[in-house]
Amino acid sequence: MTGQALKGRSTGGRLFGYRTKQGPDGAEWLIFEPEAEIVRRIFQEYAGGLSMKALTVRLNEESVPFPGKVTRRGPTRRGWAISTIHTILSNEKYWGRWVWNKAMFVKDPETGKRTAVLRPKDEWVVEDRPDLQLINLDLWTRVRERLNVVRAAYGATGTLKRPRGQAPELYSRHMLSGLIRCGICGARVTIQTSQRKKNDVLYRYGRYRCSFHVAKGPSICPNSMSIPQAVLEMKLVEKFQKALTPEMIDYLVAATNAALDALNINPQQLQRFEVERRRLDGELSNLVKFVVKGEPSPRLREEITVRERRLIELDQQIQHLRSAAAPARHEID
Ligand SMILES: [Zn+2]
Repeated sequence: MTGQALKGRSTGGRLFGYRTKQGPDGAEWLIFEPEAEIVRRIFQEYAGGLSMKALTVRLNEESVPFPGKVTRRGPTRRGWAISTIHTILSNEKYWGRWVWNKAMFVKDPETGKRTAVLRPKDEWVVEDRPDLQLINLDLWTRVRERLNVVRAAYGATGTLKRPRGQAPELYSRHMLSGLIRCGICGARVTIQTSQRKKNDVLYRYGRYRCSFHVAKGPSICPNSMSIPQAVLEMKLVEKFQKALTPEMIDYLVAATNAALDALNINPQQLQRFEVERRRLDGELSNLVKFVVKGEPSPRLREEITVRERRLIELDQQIQHLRSAAAPARHEID
């Protein structure tokens, strides 16, 4: 594979704006003009001041062909997404810098899944391909600068980044975010928060809305429904409390405790601890919200207390493992 990449031949990937053709020395990359035109337009309009979201909505309104991808999600991938625009704007191949050998796939011994890992920089193969350039360096630089400004203003705001492949509902700070789906398009219904200032007091408002309608625009999903957070959550909490039986609470307790016990058997797996800890934390905050919103039973309160204690224990174990990862290891008893 490295040999092929060194010669600038295709190693089987796909890239919006290009096609591969079988040549005498293997597959070759070629500009595919209908898509290249879209790539140029995205760079130009973003550099010209349009936001990624406005660009997403506009491309969807015009039914501009989007990078197709075979996913297990199937029909839920529809139209342009903000993340697709961001991926295109971040790809330096478009100004002619082709970097090969950047990542390698390794098999996780625990899960057996293949994941991409970045190679050391000195193993990268950098190749200038002016023949494959879709935008010039000046435009690339202007887009880069704008992306950096936007990241500095909005990025890294302390939101917990969820691990790849994990369900977003476990990592949301909102009770129902991601758990309910749009009745029209099937996308997740997520919460949109806004702030308003009134007599020097800051108020936060949350509303549940279809995520596709919000992020991809009405041409992808026409569902403009917008329900205040408090209204929807109160209704659901009422229904939950009516439906919750002691057996359900028992099940929840047993399942959580089993997960915690499994952790104790394998103290070497710091990473596993942390993943499980995050999950427990999410579970707990959802439980707490549940109690805050409605009329809590003493039983539920007790279960929360148990989890909080275990979380503290878990934190201590993680702390201990981290310090044990240092060269000298001594037992404490
Ligand atoms: Zn929808």
